[in-house]
Amino acid sequence: DGRTLERVREHVWELPQEDGMNVPARVLASEELLEHIKDDDTLDQIANVTHLPGVVTNALCMPDGHQGYGFPVGGVAAMDAENGCISPGGVGFDINCGVRMVKTTLTYEDVAGREEELVDALFDAVPTGLGGGGVVDSSHSAVEEILEDGMEWALREGYAVPDDLEHCEDEGRRPDADPSAVSQKAKDRGANQIGSLGSGNHFLEVQRVTDVFRDDVADSYGLEEDQLVVLIHCGSRGLGHQVCSDYLRRIEDEHPDFLDSLPDKNLAAAPAGSALADEYYGAMCAAINFAWVNRQLIMHQTREVFADVFDTSWEALGMELLYDVAHNIAKKETHTVDGAERELYVHRKGATRAFPAGREEVPPAYRDVGQPVIIPGSMGAGSYVLRGGADSLDVTFGSTAHGAGRLMSRTRAKQQFDADDVQTGLEEHDRIYVKAQSGETIAEEAPGVYKDVDEVIRVSDDLGIGDKVARTFPVCNIKG
Ligand code: 5GP
Ligand code: MN
Ligand code: MN
Repeated sequence: DGRTLERVREHVWELPQEDGMNVPARVLASEELLEHIKDDDTLDQIANVTHLPGVVTNALCMPDGHQGYGFPVGGVAAMDAENGCISPGGVGFDINCGVRMVKTTLTYEDVAGREEELVDALFDAVPTGLGGGGVVDSSHSAVEEILEDGMEWALREGYAVPDDLEHCEDEGRRPDADPSAVSQKAKDRGANQIGSLGSGNHFLEVQRVTDVFRDDVADSYGLEEDQLVVLIHCGSRGLGHQVCSDYLRRIEDEHPDFLDSLPDKNLAAAPAGSALADEYYGAMCAAINFAWVNRQLIMHQTREVFADVFDTSWEALGMELLYDVAHNIAKKETHTVDGAERELYVHRKGATRAFPAGREEVPPAYRDVGQPVIIPGSMGAGSYVLRGGADSLDVTFGSTAHGAGRLMSRTRAKQQFDADDVQTGLEEHDRIYVKAQSGETIAEEAPGVYKDVDEVIRVSDDLGIGDKVARTFPVCNIKG
């Protein structure tokens, strides 16, 4: 739309500060990825984010960025936690959507030829699709405890071992959670979805490690070539969605003048220090806890299925959690801005925290090497494990991409792809066995709707924000 981008250095592009912008915006992309980013409203959206009060340094678009609701997906923005604001649109509807990777000691040989058996068993054990049904029977008291305690609830109830909490972002619990700030309607929506994958873009994929790029880091992570791993992608289901809707509505009602001053109503934000900002933060943290439990229960089911199919225990199969990362989240974090320590609300919407070695939030197991960053590609392409890069704190408030990023809308995807053709192609050409709750999902999520994940990762690695550790390739996959 004629916005001028200035090249700062390789892979770094700037939208200079103009009317209403509090800081410049930056896009991190190769020239190839930039062409896609220019294709939709992403540039306008990331420029709009800089209008929010208290935004510091730059609003940033990651290399997988594309147009979203208010904020682009792949957006990172840090606002002063005292004088700035917090924005539900900067987190997204699926609060703490994220991925976890489970390791195994199996290799591809162990599963080759048994994909269908494994997928059928996983499909039976893991609730998928829109609507109701979870691993745990609907119980309102469970929801309250999950919102408050996150994975500590799962540990108490026998769905987790202590080692799982030690290998999860925030140990699977945000202490700032305030279940009383979550509406009854949100809790009701969550009650019968505790342990459920959901639909569409969410998946459970068995993968094999095809490449290792940094032997020493892969060693610390316990990853090696040909190993089987499981990637689980889902979020907070209807509960998180309802929290986001509730607070967007309340911002409209309680801060209408502030909203009118913004270039896009979908950027709705609560001023830092307002009661509403604190309530949203407490509710969002509670929804974060819900999502961690959700992924934990799905991992629990996965362990049981593997134990059953391979006729042993999950412990004997080495099914340890590598790590669990959120990619729709806002967090209070301390960062150095112009030489001074500041407390910020760091919004990562379709972006992954990528803290380097040394940062205290990185769990002890990884503190010397940097946190694992898990980035899915598509059901027909590679996915990646990175480690938080040494330059991430300077360049992106400790963040990187969250996926390959969509090239087209779901509507266009359904016009362009035929579910049967996609499924048969994957099976016959790539030996990837996919089972989905609905055929529509397969068309909407066809590999061709996503950008080139290798190119996204190349940019992350070149910039030193997330360094390549290992690449995986799908073996079989269940989709919602
Ligand atoms: P989102 O959270 O934005 O919906 O998706 C994150 C990323 O997951 C997408 O950008 C895409 O690259 C990736 N993805 C979507 N479906 C699949 C899948 O079935 N398998 C894998 N490995 N990645 C996927
Ligand atoms: Mn999601
Ligand atoms: Mn997601």
